[in-house]
Amino acid sequence: MNIKNNINNFRQNLPERCNLIAVSKTQPISAIQEAYDAGQRVFGENKVQELVPKFEALPKDIQWHMIGHLQSNKVKYIAPFVHWIHAVDSVKLLDEINKQANKAQRVIACLLQVHIATEETKFGFSADEIRSLLLEPTFEKYKHIKIHGLMGMATFTDNHDQVRREFKSLRKIFDDLKTLSLPANVDLKELSMGMSGDYKIAIEEGSTMIRIGTALFGERNYH
Ligand SMILES: *Cc1c(COP(=O)(O)O)cnc(C)c1O
Repeated sequence: MNIKNNINNFRQNLPERCNLIAVSKTQPISAIQEAYDAGQRVFGENKVQELVPKFEALPKDIQWHMIGHLQSNKVKYIAPFVHWIHAVDSVKLLDEINKQANKAQRVIACLLQVHIATEETKFGFSADEIRSLLLEPTFEKYKHIKIHGLMGMATFTDNHDQVRREFKSLRKIFDDLKTLSLPANVDLKELSMGMSGDYKIAIEEGSTMIRIGTALFGERNYH
């Protein structure tokens, strides 16, 4: 794997609206440094216990995105530095992010995860749940959170039509929410969808953030 070439290829071919999140989970510091040296500054991790030591070891101008399912009791470890949290999937988690961001005197950018896949194992709100959550008069109490958009994961399948349908449904939910009169801590601009296997479809369906791991770094080595 030539990480530098991969980064450059992605950069050259992405539409301007779309950002590349380099998903570095399970990758060693040396691989992340290589991507950094190629100019990449935005990285995604899905485990708190991996994110914290990488944050400590690597240059401080990296923007770290927590992209995976996040347990409330671990928010405190990342709240002081995390740039974005992609997979906010419960009110309990929102409450905790707000509390820990307050302690750290920060406002943390968040995306609400929508359940678009047919797999039960994937997390996220339904469209109706997000709508009623954002329209609750009390939503403005989250002073240390800014909701910047939605995130979704398509079903893991070779069926491209299904993947496209799922991304289309996320885009539709996003567009419908944008027509509502939303609280000040909500500014819907970003749609985080697309991974190594399905990012082309995601971009065609309006993604603004693709989360790419294996296509940049090669296969992951889980010990
Ligand atoms: C691992 C992961 C990715 C990247 O997956 P690849 O198929 O390696 O590109 C994207 N999003 C989330 C939430 C992940 O956990």
